[in-house]
Amino acid sequence: MVKAVVGANWGDEGKGKITDMLAKEADIVIRFQGGANAGHTIVNNYGKFALHTLPSGVFYNHTTSVIGNGVALDVPKLFAEIKSITDRNVPMPKILVSDRAQIVMSYHILFDQYEEERLAGKSFGSTKSGIAPFYSDKYAKIGFQVSEIFDDDVIKEKAERVCAQKNVLLEHLYHKPLLKPEDIVKELQGYREMLAPYVCDVSTYLWNALQEGKNILLEGQLGTLKDPDHGIYPMVTSSSTLAAYGAIGAGIPPYAIEKVVTVCKAYSSAVGAGEFVSEIFGEEADELRRRGGDGGEFGATTGRPRRMGWFDAVASKYGCRMQGTTDVAFTVLDVLGYLDEIPVCVAYDIDGKVTTDFPTTTMLKKAKPVYETLPGWKCDIRGIKKYEDLPENCRKYIEFIEKQIGFPITMISNGPGRDDIIYR
Ligand code: GDP
Repeated sequence: MVKAVVGANWGDEGKGKITDMLAKEADIVIRFQGGANAGHTIVNNYGKFALHTLPSGVFYNHTTSVIGNGVALDVPKLFAEIKSITDRNVPMPKILVSDRAQIVMSYHILFDQYEEERLAGKSFGSTKSGIAPFYSDKYAKIGFQVSEIFDDDVIKEKAERVCAQKNVLLEHLYHKPLLKPEDIVKELQGYREMLAPYVCDVSTYLWNALQEGKNILLEGQLGTLKDPDHGIYPMVTSSSTLAAYGAIGAGIPPYAIEKVVTVCKAYSSAVGAGEFVSEIFGEEADELRRRGGDGGEFGATTGRPRRMGWFDAVASKYGCRMQGTTDVAFTVLDVLGYLDEIPVCVAYDIDGKVTTDFPTTTMLKKAKPVYETLPGWKCDIRGIKKYEDLPENCRKYIEFIEKQIGFPITMISNGPGRDDIIYR
């Protein structure tokens, strides 16, 4: 059976923690989209880790960690990350890399930087990890699939094609040094030995695992609102962040995904530019940012301060619906314990019309938040294990939000650790 762990919002909902926790019962954990551009923070018995490429199941001996075909595979970053965890006494994880995954090239990272420079103030807030150039090339059919790098003729021929296209842009648009086909070939040849032990026909492997009744977890990166189709285009990422894409990015039948655990944060945060209706500013935002997450709301990959806001029920209802949610994991609730009152954005006012349906970006730009304010619970809820033991106002907050979003909150996370969870 397959469970997906995905985000309802802008990312950073705590998917890493929930995946690490659910991985206890999983045989296989797979990353199915995205690359090293976002991070998952995990706190467990080995310490605190920021993972960017590895699935969040790597901390258990019994799980196999898979890099699916949908991932943007940055080989040096993958190996640096493996080293960073084994250096801290985590046993070497069992890793498989899809033979259909494609490789992030050093020039993808350069193009990302050049484009951000060119756009200057109008940039998309890219993390400059090469993700957008990588996926553009994948769909332009000039990407390098892992399976191809073992064949000199294939990579030489494609390297010529890549240079012919890229060098026009490098010369005339960016005014930067040109690429040489032999450097591209050398880069790819350098990855052969590194990757060879891990390369796997992942869809066959997973098909067999499913026949054997194995438990499989799909781990999503970012959240619904960063999906290229259903998110706040163009301020989105370059691969689908939806559970449905798990079937494609891992190579499993869509009907195999029986559970979709959508991770939804008790307040809002976002990194990078883009529409954010319930955003707050000034001291109010600074305080939430300072207290947020586990040691403040700063990007796991970039260290950038996250933008903060109150819970957005319109965006989250939509975020859960587009994921095909069966269970909501409601996270970082403990952070809100300092507030006397907690505003919740329950609707948008767009040109005088009030709606609870999340609109396209053009309409979203005009949306003003409609708030309802709930009383706070004014205490620390960390350590509580039973739903009934939560303060009444805290339960009221959860139940209010559950009603607004229309999907069952079955897990409540009240701390960053593996065991900080209340099942309902
Ligand atoms: P992801 O990308 O969705 O995995 O999220 P991140 O790891 O970027 O951000 C979540 C942050 O919140 C991390 O620092 C986690 O350690 C932390 N975190 C996760 N769940 C909780 C929780 O319930 N309470 C608190 N206080 N922190 C949490």
